[in-house]
Amino acid sequence: MPCLIAYLASKTMCAAPRNIAILGSTGSIGQSSLEVMRNFPGQFRPAYLATNTNIELLQKQIIEFKPKGVAVLDRSRASALRAAVAGHIEILSGNEGLEEIVSRDDVDVVISALVGFAGLKPTIAAITRGKTIALANKETLVVAGELMTSLIKECGAQLIPVDSEHSAILQCLLGEDPDQIARLILTASGGPFLNTPREAFSSITVEAALNHPNWKMGNKITIDSATLMNKGLEVIEAHWLFDLPPERIEVVIHPQSIIHSMVEFVDGSVKAQMGLPDMKLPIQFALTYPRRSPMDGARIDFPKLRSMTFFEPDRAKFRCLQLAFDALSLGGTAPTVLNAANEVAVGAFLKGRIRFDRIPAIIDRALSEHSIRLSPGLQDIVEADRHTRSFVGTLC
Ligand code: MG
Repeated sequence: MPCLIAYLASKTMCAAPRNIAILGSTGSIGQSSLEVMRNFPGQFRPAYLATNTNIELLQKQIIEFKPKGVAVLDRSRASALRAAVAGHIEILSGNEGLEEIVSRDDVDVVISALVGFAGLKPTIAAITRGKTIALANKETLVVAGELMTSLIKECGAQLIPVDSEHSAILQCLLGEDPDQIARLILTASGGPFLNTPREAFSSITVEAALNHPNWKMGNKITIDSATLMNKGLEVIEAHWLFDLPPERIEVVIHPQSIIHSMVEFVDGSVKAQMGLPDMKLPIQFALTYPRRSPMDGARIDFPKLRSMTFFEPDRAKFRCLQLAFDALSLGGTAPTVLNAANEVAVGAFLKGRIRFDRIPAIIDRALSEHSIRLSPGLQDIVEADRHTRSFVGTLC
């Protein structure tokens, strides 16, 4: 058997590289994805890259990786890039440009790593073309989980999570029967304000909220981690990925971020996936799934780690977590409203326009004002998102 495994591995190494399209190549996940691919030039080729606005970094990536084409969401930034590269590479722009590169026949895998709602339409375009999607943009599943799930079945697409918690669950489920899952246990670091008293939440600064103890990430997700909204969005994401009701998805605070999530099975056995907090591991696993490939880097030193601790999250202090559970139970367009209100409120907090403790208050208000539409289509989702953004804009 070892000989057969070695033979299969050598076959994989000899095959032509798989063409990867990265939506959000200049962001934190996009850059880590390119770092992973740098280690496997024979296996993966970053064939198409897309960014929202960061053409300076995209230009450096074009020089290093020589993609077949790129797309820039912001049209004026796309024009600036065209002028800079003078026809040496195909440059598409706008939502249509992003949708076109993920739909090309020569794309094998799409890494969906744009931030927020902006990732929805190109991810749906990739699904309708039956692509394999490594999903880092959790907001897409939050706002359109029901629609995406039915499209994935209809179009034969495959969704592989990149989020470390969901990658952990996928790893725990290798060789298991999904019908034998009792519950999923998502771990949360608790963020920088785990031990901050609730009364002090009104005076939390942007700088303090951006200082995550364990993970280095983009600004939006770092604020979501500080409010625990990130974990709430991940509960919704887990619901759609693993088809379990909210009452069988639990959140536990685990400040060391060594266990990335766990699965409890019907016999009471629990599997946990562990590793040092580094997004390159779940990205690489999504690209090599269901196999593994070697990866250099630090390893867990258990005697040095000494202990791992666990707590129940304080849902009264971290109201965003409870709001996410509420939105999931309400269903329909409620998670779309939760996400839109959160994106606008987080943006306003980052600009210093609202206090930290106003984020959950604003989301709560948006949810209570909204008339939920059940089983929404793409147009309903776009409309709920647009309406919520304009309503929340008046509160910030
Ligand atoms: Mg995560």
